Amino acid sequence: MKQIYLDYAATTPTHPEVAKAMAPYFTDAFGNPSTLYSYGQEAKGAIEEARVKVAGLIGAQDEEIVFTSGGTEADNFALKGVAYANEKRGNHIITTPIEHHAVIETCKFLERRGFRVTYLPVDGYGLVDPDDARRAITDKTILISVMHANNEIGIIEPIAEIGRIAKEAGIYFHTDAVQTAGHIPVDVNKLGVDLLSMSSHKIYGPKGTGALYIRKGTKLLALMHGGEQERRRRAGTENIPAIVGLGKTVELARQEMSGEVVRLTYLRDQLIKGLLKRIDHIHLNGHSQTRLPNNVNVSVDFVEGESMVLNLDLEGICASTGSACSSSSLEPSHALLATGLSPEQAHGSLRLTLGKWTTEEEISRVLEVLPQIVAKLRAMSPLLKVGK
Ligand code: PLP
Repeated sequence: MKQIYLDYAATTPTHPEVAKAMAPYFTDAFGNPSTLYSYGQEAKGAIEEARVKVAGLIGAQDEEIVFTSGGTEADNFALKGVAYANEKRGNHIITTPIEHHAVIETCKFLERRGFRVTYLPVDGYGLVDPDDARRAITDKTILISVMHANNEIGIIEPIAEIGRIAKEAGIYFHTDAVQTAGHIPVDVNKLGVDLLSMSSHKIYGPKGTGALYIRKGTKLLALMHGGEQERRRRAGTENIPAIVGLGKTVELARQEMSGEVVRLTYLRDQLIKGLLKRIDHIHLNGHSQTRLPNNVNVSVDFVEGESMVLNLDLEGICASTGSACSSSSLEPSHALLATGLSPEQAHGSLRLTLGKWTTEEEISRVLEVLPQIVAKLRAMSPLLKVGK
């Protein structure tokens, strides 16, 4: 059976051209970039080339990019780095309840250490009202962190508006762009952000690498000590093959982005329309337009998301449920609950995320198979009997 992969927001396969670009840096150009001889200098040159590409993707200057081990580290670095470097100025952070756990858990960590965090409300689509951000600012606020797009419901937040508010108030502004940088246009100056997190494995690059954009002049404490790498902002010998891979994947993303946005938006809308037509008691989570081009998230009444995922897997289709951040957790999704869904509706959610290799035939196959799965599960469901 041919597998249909529809979980591109969880991770993507590494593009063959990216793997090819990385290969020599494992075996031939393996030098430590901190050394003076030519092997080391070749590796150093490769890092700087990748840095130029990453900076170019988001309208930044090269020296404003720090390579990290991925989105999680970039988020931790942004929040803890700003908090600890600016604690004399204030101890208040503003964020949202729909952030990725890399932000939410970092905020909880900081709360346990004396920082105060305001979680802005979101509406039924998951949208933040910029005026709520303005009203939440106090003379102790040092940082606002609002994600560019949500990884579960695909909502795209009004980052540029919040950026203007943060700038007027002289407060640092961070955005988690892990689901957007490389997928849709991202420009740090148009968005008005001082810090921006990105990740490689969501955009056809290798896992375990990413970057944090740090606007020149931002006061940030380094989290890693023990070396002078990354202009003393992130100690540790660089992961050269992965950084080269990130550079290559960003180069490809820039070439393909505009075509992919149009193609994926079309497929996404076909899938949404088809599901809403073929399955009753189903609703779309997030906004129909203000959403990532590759994201579909629905709640299906009277069935469990996990059951849909497992049954789709039997049909060779990989999807995920928004009801758990990790498959080992049975907690309903914090993002879906924040939009006002009941725990039952959150448990009945299904996320299908499209990517570079998604075809129209694959979408048709899902539209054929999923209604049958839902009908089968409902026929066995104690939830339906209660609901009737
Ligand atoms: N932020 C968002 C919005 C994400 O979707 C993810 C990954 O799922 C992360 C952060 C973490 O990124 P990484 O897997 O590179 O650590």
